[in-house]
Amino acid sequence: MNSLRKEPLGGGSSEPLPVAIIGNGPSGICLSYLLSGNTPYVKSHAVHPHPLLQRKLMETPGVSIMDQDLDYLSEGLEGRCESPVALLFDALLRPDTDFGGDMESVLTWKHEKERTVPHVVLGRNLPGGAWHSIDGSMVTLSQGQWMGLPDLQVKDWMRKKRRGLRNSRATAGDIAHYYRDYVTKKGLEHNFVSGAVVTAVKWEGLEPQDSGAQDSRPLFQVSGFLQNAQDPSPQPFILRARNLVLATGTYDSPARLGVPGESLPFVHHELAALEAAMRAGTVTPASEPVLIVGAGLSAADAVLYARHCNVPVIHAFRRSVDDPGLVFNQLPKMLYPEYHKVHQMMRDQSFLSPGPYEGYLSLPQHQLLLLKEDCQAVFRDPRGGQKAFGVSLVLVLIGSYPDLSFLPGGGALLTMDPSQPLSAKRNPIHVDPFTYQSTHQEGLYALGPLAGDNFVRFVQGGALAAASSLLRKETRKPP
Ligand SMILES: Cc1cc2nc3c(=O)[nH]c(=O)nc-3n(C[C@H](O)[C@H](O)[C@H](O)COP(=O)(O)OP(=O)(O)OC[C@H]3O[C@@H](n4cnc5c(N)ncnc54)[C@H](O)[C@@H]3O)c2cc1C
Repeated sequence: MNSLRKEPLGGGSSEPLPVAIIGNGPSGICLSYLLSGNTPYVKSHAVHPHPLLQRKLMETPGVSIMDQDLDYLSEGLEGRCESPVALLFDALLRPDTDFGGDMESVLTWKHEKERTVPHVVLGRNLPGGAWHSIDGSMVTLSQGQWMGLPDLQVKDWMRKKRRGLRNSRATAGDIAHYYRDYVTKKGLEHNFVSGAVVTAVKWEGLEPQDSGAQDSRPLFQVSGFLQNAQDPSPQPFILRARNLVLATGTYDSPARLGVPGESLPFVHHELAALEAAMRAGTVTPASEPVLIVGAGLSAADAVLYARHCNVPVIHAFRRSVDDPGLVFNQLPKMLYPEYHKVHQMMRDQSFLSPGPYEGYLSLPQHQLLLLKEDCQAVFRDPRGGQKAFGVSLVLVLIGSYPDLSFLPGGGALLTMDPSQPLSAKRNPIHVDPFTYQSTHQEGLYALGPLAGDNFVRFVQGGALAAASSLLRKETRKPP
């Protein structure tokens, strides 16, 4: 796939695009599929195991799901997500998956050219979003089949690639590959511009005579640059669109501790830095320990990686190992043996109780106070005392924030609580639950973690809601 395509950016045309999507992860890909004329209908003889949903689906046979009342259809559905449309789409794609079943989707897909809404998907990297930044050997937390997008099951794709799931989970590398392939297989490539970084978005009211429309709708101006490994000088671009979809995820801006020394060259905020140091030989099994700060899954992945490379590790975190808020205490042990192993090490090999895991030391309830130029890390321990350790490299893996710095005010005014910072978990962008359009700005949509949907399985409902809304606006189809 071309890493850089300029044609969809308008090629100098003065006519605004109907839709511009920023972000080419699962959310942007799924929306592109739905805006490309791919239309979901319920299979004629399908029987959904949810009796209420089945009854409602039978009321309107032959009407596409995108033309139905999503509020009505999703009412009464329950599951592991708060978005009703996310639960609905997931239930249609994976009818009995939460009960351990493997029933086929009740949907069939028709390509209806007249329903195509021209759009462009802009993304910093290759299609697949965050999955190209995650260590390829990492195994997904979710079951492999939950990582799939409409009408191409991960298990079928894996079979064709002669790959297999591991304990029903997939590697991040396979999933990134699947998303790239999905874009190609579904013929969506011409909508995607990889290597496009958006740096600014402005909007203003559009006069009716400009658009030919009766109402005054906003016009979004999106600018940025195109980057290409072969061409070191970035090319600026500008495009105009009647609707703008934010699908930029939440992994571009790692959270920082805010301690002195955090900007020193041996301190990093992503696992890739350790991989690079290993490749360069600046960190080896004979080096001082690598310090990993954090007690989430990314920190656990880093511990596993370092252990796999026989690199000594100091693992520091602020909570106690038995804190119920710790993610390890929420994961079933049988399904996640590797994370259970890390949790066991955190408990058994602390500074208080030397255990059997050579080359690993856990520092529960320790707060990092300072990083010094001579590679010393200074902590406050649970009793208020101070301890210092020599380290070779520091990885601070304590989460990340969405980066909407390209929007006016960094997007803060679009959140649920504009007085608080934007946060996927605590303060996402406030959208209408049945269109995913911003409640603050007409024509602006948000998908995925930005709108509070945190798993690939559930980001697709937002794409369905947004596609349904955009189709009504842009093709003037009756609801
Ligand atoms: C380590 C890790 C493990 C995970 N494991 C799972 C799992 O097992 N199961 C699961 O369901 N989910 C998992 N997730 C969450 C999952 O990655 C997200 O839910 C999903 O990728 C969100 O999709 P998205 O398309 O909304 O955003 P993303 O996948 O984050 O894609 C957004 C893309 O937009 C790009 N972008 C951002 N800003 C700009 C800009 N200004 N210009 C151009 N491009 C931009 C970003 O670089 C990114 O590539 C995991 C996440 C991480 C970090």
